[in-house]
Amino acid sequence: MSIVVSALKEEQPHEKRVAIDPDVTKRLIKAGMKVLIEKGAGVASYYNDDSYQQAGAEVVDRKTALSQANIVAVINLPSDETLNALKPGQVILGLLSSLIKPEKMQQLADKKVTALSFELLPRTISRAQTMDVLSSQSSVAGYKAALVASDAYSKYFPMMITAAGTVKPAKVLVLGTGVAGLQAIGTAKRLGAIISGYDVRPASKGEVESLGANFLTSSVSNGAGSGGYARALTPEETAAQQKELAGFIADNDVIITTAQVPGHKPPLMVTQESVDNAKPGTVFVDLAASDLGGNIAGSKPDETVTTPNQATIIGGNNFASELSNSASQLFAKNVQSVINAMVDKDGNLAIDPKDDVFSGLTATTNGEIINARLRDALKLDPLPKDEPAKDESDEKADQSAKSKGAE
Ligand code: NAD
Repeated sequence: MSIVVSALKEEQPHEKRVAIDPDVTKRLIKAGMKVLIEKGAGVASYYNDDSYQQAGAEVVDRKTALSQANIVAVINLPSDETLNALKPGQVILGLLSSLIKPEKMQQLADKKVTALSFELLPRTISRAQTMDVLSSQSSVAGYKAALVASDAYSKYFPMMITAAGTVKPAKVLVLGTGVAGLQAIGTAKRLGAIISGYDVRPASKGEVESLGANFLTSSVSNGAGSGGYARALTPEETAAQQKELAGFIADNDVIITTAQVPGHKPPLMVTQESVDNAKPGTVFVDLAASDLGGNIAGSKPDETVTTPNQATIIGGNNFASELSNSASQLFAKNVQSVINAMVDKDGNLAIDPKDDVFSGLTATTNGEIINARLRDALKLDPLPKDEPAKDESDEKADQSAKSKGAE
């Protein structure tokens, strides 16, 4: 029997993306799977039900998409009602907010549902790059941040030499030059602005300069942490950073911030004082804006705030969703890569919890939380290193050995 993959319509009102597009639908079907799409799931990404049907999918109601699937693909963690409808042995795959809501993963573990959460993917393993939703969606968000900033800015981004006079180019400062920051730099550069980039990871200098931007060297001595990420700064380093950035901020017209540290609140880089000292017309875009706070004092997720000194602060919590079609196309490719890696050559579901990619990506399988970061968040003892989580076949072998012993 072929594996059934479903994509659900997202439940959050601001979410426009869909986890599987018609192209990936075709590819999954070609690989021998069956694809069910919840009615209307792709409409906000401009993939209508007909386009899925033409690709070979069945368009079904939510109940059918949930009950018949072996693998349920989503963008975001679904509601409790949806999670409760999942059955033992089913797999759910998406940005499940596993580290923010670890209790939901425990809930799924208790139901023996397998949960694969893209936030947990070990991104530095080269095999995992095609599965890297954080990179694909950050790249979209960085692009959109530059466009949103240019739209909110009251002057040109490029230098304009006209018969009526010359307009100076905008000066754009990008704080945090990871995946989103580099895409924001590239996009603002293509729009003709003068760009500076700043990061605490020394490795980012070459990447910023290769895009034709100026790299502002940080006084923080080696802010690199593990896995290619930044480390959390000490309170003294944070204060020194805020001070050194104040001058740069006052000197720029547009400030785009993207700084994140996994497992921590986003670092505050632009203080209230820096906001108060900004020139009228300054545009701040905070891609790290969240309910936990952001990189910019006063930023609010998904809101635009005008300050008394006429600066604009845009909280960009959900920019990837604004480019719903492209973002879904890339997300779907990441989903397809994960599915390809968890289906064996005979077309059966075969997640190996000892595999270096799946031991990270998998929040829970066979009733056990197996991701080490998640176990830590749930205050569970680490799994013994030489005795990784048992898979179903081990369990069956154990049971059969026990029943043989009882005979
Ligand atoms: P992220 O979203 O966690 O953070 C964004 C940026 O903010 C990072 O560049 C980080 O260094 C920076 N930052 C954090 N705190 C800061 C502070 N106090 N001051 C200044 N900057 C700060 O990171 P990301 O963009 O997802 O990825 C970070 C890096 O990891 C990138 O270089 C990326 O290329 C690399 N990466 C590598 C792989 C791989 O090897 N396959 C995969 C994914 C990411």
